[in-house]
Amino acid sequence: MNRRKFNATLALGSSGIALTSNIPMACAIDTKQNKKKLGIALVGLGQYSTYQLAPALQDTEHCYLAGVVTGTPEKEQIWADNYKLPKENIYNYDNFDTIKNNDAIDIVYVVLPNSMHADFSIRAARAGKHVICEKPMAMNVEECDAIMAACMKEGVKLGMGYRLHSEPYTQEVKRFVREKTFGNVKYISADAAYHSTSDPGQWRLNKALSGGGALVNMGVYAIQSVIYGTGENPISVSAQEYSTRPEYFKDTDETITAQFEFESGAVGNIMTSHNANVNKLYASCDQGWFELNPANNYGPLKGRTSEGTQISFPHESQQKLQMDDFAKHILFDAPNLAPGEMGKRDMMIVEAIYKSIAAGGRKQALDFEPGYGFSK
Ligand code: NAD
Repeated sequence: MNRRKFNATLALGSSGIALTSNIPMACAIDTKQNKKKLGIALVGLGQYSTYQLAPALQDTEHCYLAGVVTGTPEKEQIWADNYKLPKENIYNYDNFDTIKNNDAIDIVYVVLPNSMHADFSIRAARAGKHVICEKPMAMNVEECDAIMAACMKEGVKLGMGYRLHSEPYTQEVKRFVREKTFGNVKYISADAAYHSTSDPGQWRLNKALSGGGALVNMGVYAIQSVIYGTGENPISVSAQEYSTRPEYFKDTDETITAQFEFESGAVGNIMTSHNANVNKLYASCDQGWFELNPANNYGPLKGRTSEGTQISFPHESQQKLQMDDFAKHILFDAPNLAPGEMGKRDMMIVEAIYKSIAAGGRKQALDFEPGYGFSK
């Protein structure tokens, strides 16, 4: 199998791309080799599953692509052919619940539009499967609670698709903060934005399907950055919204800025947008600074510090590292690097940001238990 040749179109996503099946690869699953690997079923075969998760699953050590769940019948045969998936491991949205009878599937990875995260995560838990849920965790905090309660009740593990916690640049930032390499963080700035011009009918710009605009899409990365970049949950947030292309962003937020206070006295600022291209994290500390730029794309990431050093690590697929980390959590009780509480905490911050905007930028208090939502 030559993974690098995998560049054909499997997605019928928001761009309405045609399906093709002439993909020069065959990811033969060596059943012997995979005996100790956990089987993952991807739910939703759009861009992220097609171009990131499925290819990454060809290289994972502790899990493998065992099945798929799709609402598009044409994709069933294509994925079956290209990944040598047995027919019984291919589901649609209606027969999905029968996955509970399939021992080949250990983990269900929900990669659907945000409005479908809670439904499929809860159904996966009820089927007795461990769950990875993509970001943002759900449409609101209530749904996050429902997902967590279902996983707790069924005794299955829950992880967020927060790939950065498994990659070395983010881990290095966390180390700087933990070891106070540059002293205490005083100010942290994080921007996560891309300029959107594609189909205005796409689900990301439809609030009923996305739950929000830039904030719930890229903004979640910026929120994450200010938290792991200070090592603290914020105690307050104030936010502002800007709209310069209302004819395109009819239903969802275009650009949002927000300022955070932290118990230590650190101050944070984020900008997120579907109308600009920025992707960075900068922390000013009392003995220097560090930055990542880019900070949260698929990599390779890049970083610098006030000591004149480049932060540099060999590049590996972040998705491969993330899915292996979650499998290790299940198999070997390794830490859950992105637990459900982390997804819920971020959704609580998202809700506080929208509340602040609705209140003309008024500061909203946030009251988390110390360390709530951090990796254990
Ligand atoms: P996409 O539009 O490419 O794919 C969405 C999939 O959902 C498609 O296969 C589509 O057929 C299916 N679908 C089912 N019902 C739908 C409906 N009503 N409207 C539209 N599509 C419908 O999206 P994507 O980029 O693959 O994103 C999927 C999820 O993954 C989102 O939650 C997104 O936030 C998340 N994501 C995470 C990352 C990451 O880096 N962690 C990156 C990209 C996407």
